[in-house]
Amino acid sequence: MNIAIIGSGLTGSLAAISLARKGCLVDLYERLSDDELVNRDRSYALTHSSRRILEKLNIWDQILPNLISFKYLNVIDYAINRKFKFIINDLNLVDRKYSSIGWIVEHSKLMNTIIDIISQNDNINKIPTSIIRNTNNYDLIIVADGSNSITKKRLKTPSFGFDYDQVCITLKVLLRGIESYEAFEILTPEGPLAILPLGGDMFQIICSQSVVARSNNLSLSKPLFLDYLSTVLPIGIEPDTIIGDIMEFPIKFSLNYKLHCGKYIYLGETAHVLHPVGGQGLNLCWRDVDYLSNIIVLPIFRKYTFLVPMIYSFIRIIDIVSISILTDSLVRYSRSNINVFFFPRTFIFFILKKSSLVRRFILNIMTNGI
Ligand SMILES: Cc1cc2nc3c(=O)[nH]c(=O)nc-3n(C[C@H](O)[C@H](O)[C@H](O)COP(=O)(O)OP(=O)(O)OC[C@H]3O[C@@H](n4cnc5c(N)ncnc54)[C@H](O)[C@@H]3O)c2cc1C
Repeated sequence: MNIAIIGSGLTGSLAAISLARKGCLVDLYERLSDDELVNRDRSYALTHSSRRILEKLNIWDQILPNLISFKYLNVIDYAINRKFKFIINDLNLVDRKYSSIGWIVEHSKLMNTIIDIISQNDNINKIPTSIIRNTNNYDLIIVADGSNSITKKRLKTPSFGFDYDQVCITLKVLLRGIESYEAFEILTPEGPLAILPLGGDMFQIICSQSVVARSNNLSLSKPLFLDYLSTVLPIGIEPDTIIGDIMEFPIKFSLNYKLHCGKYIYLGETAHVLHPVGGQGLNLCWRDVDYLSNIIVLPIFRKYTFLVPMIYSFIRIIDIVSISILTDSLVRYSRSNINVFFFPRTFIFFILKKSSLVRRFILNIMTNGI
């Protein structure tokens, strides 16, 4: 099967590796250089679904030395002053033996490994341009050119979306009073705030602030931002030094009404963009890749390739819609400041603290999808 992939971010690149290993010939179109692809200052939280996909592709062992595992995920709701934590025993039996709730990886290390693997695969031909000269050369065209996809606009594929009135702020910071193997998801009235371990005392903070609050803080220097952090971090955790730059970007929600258009299939952020604080973004993108690879390998679709986009859309939509709604609900839950919700919130936290069954159910969805 001849396949074109537009965009070689983490979704397009993994799709290229996965499909090439299934025997497809892949042309991978990307307008950026390898250096530009690598040099993005972000970190991702990988869940067990991503671990399984990388294991299948024999990439896991190569990436493992760069991963920081976390064994607890503390969840705190400031509005009601309650907390609980997900622990290893809340995972299902198979995932439990990895002794990790999830892993944090820096973008540059992940991308470097993936670019190396692509360069060693003879079935992948990297083409440094955006333009596919003759689309008739391909059985399928995979669109993974990100959230501002030009291809999607050109094909006029409709999507549902809105901008959150928030910006996402990410930074690396040295913290005191926190273990190097724990992560936090804190629900604040401004929106969720995640603390992810990067090894030793270094942590990545991803938080969202309303546009208004952020514009008031625009001139914040690093020392002032440290002061701000000390007011929002849990008691006992103290920020020491900010490493590198404080970055911010607007946040939007977007979901395609259709995951395909003719022989074009939308993967990753081209099809769905979520609020980043739920930590689901990349994992959901990679599950797209996995579902597609599982379909393409079936002998019937080698003959009836034209069915692949429709079947993919049909079986993929439930996980994408459910995780999108869950992530959006988490943001709305965090920001809902109405007193009448305080009792149900307290009740939810009580149940989550007491019942490992409920924690298992929720963690299983967060880590393996639906
Ligand atoms: C600023 C920012 C910060 C983020 N931070 C986090 C985070 O902290 N944690 C997290 O889990 N997720 C984060 N995300 C989301 C995460 O980066 C994505 O989920 C993940 O990178 C997968 O994206 P993708 O490969 O689908 O798209 P992208 O990473 O956007 O890749 C799309 C690729 O397509 C290329 N391209 C675009 N147009 C064309 C064209 N016409 N022809 C050829 N190539 C083209 C682009 O150059 C790019 O390389 C962040 C996203 C952004 C924008």
